[in-house]
Amino acid sequence: MNIALDFDGTIADAAGAKIRYAKERWNIELTYATSMRPGALPLMGEERYEQMLRDVFGSPMSVEMEPMPGAVESLRRLASDHDLHIVTARFDHEGEFAMQWLEKHGLSVRSLTATNRGAKVDHCVALNASVLFEDSVGELAHFANQEHTVAMALLETPYNQLEQRAEDWHVVPDWTAFEALVGRLAHTT
Ligand SMILES: [Mg+2]
Repeated sequence: MNIALDFDGTIADAAGAKIRYAKERWNIELTYATSMRPGALPLMGEERYEQMLRDVFGSPMSVEMEPMPGAVESLRRLASDHDLHIVTARFDHEGEFAMQWLEKHGLSVRSLTATNRGAKVDHCVALNASVLFEDSVGELAHFANQEHTVAMALLETPYNQLEQRAEDWHVVPDWTAFEALVGRLAHTT
């Protein structure tokens, strides 16, 4: 089975990296719940938010991100039965740091696609992905009303908890639950 995986916030703890960056650089206290654009803008403004994204994603700081709980172990297990494809909204040069992160953690994937902030749906279809695992509600929303057979799995996080979910999404609390979902999907495809 081809499995498409988001990187930031799903595999690597991008929110944690932003929280550290905002504190060290501007003494701004972000939390997991306020680490994404809607929560962060009132606290730091657009310009600083964009600066933070450029620095956190586009520098070696990216390679220092912590893994999301259980992600590395799950990815190793999944890689033995499936083809793993990273589909990230990062820019190309930022994707290279994601690749370094994966190497650092001893993970190998079939491919890494950087959409350069574009929607992922066409890329997932081109990869013949059976499922996409994501932390972004906005990203999964791009799959609505599109021709595709990609199952959509949302990782529950403090910043997406209050956002509206579509009925056909699989909402999972952690990587263990995602692995169980993959097991169910593999039986039905
Ligand atoms: Mg993400």
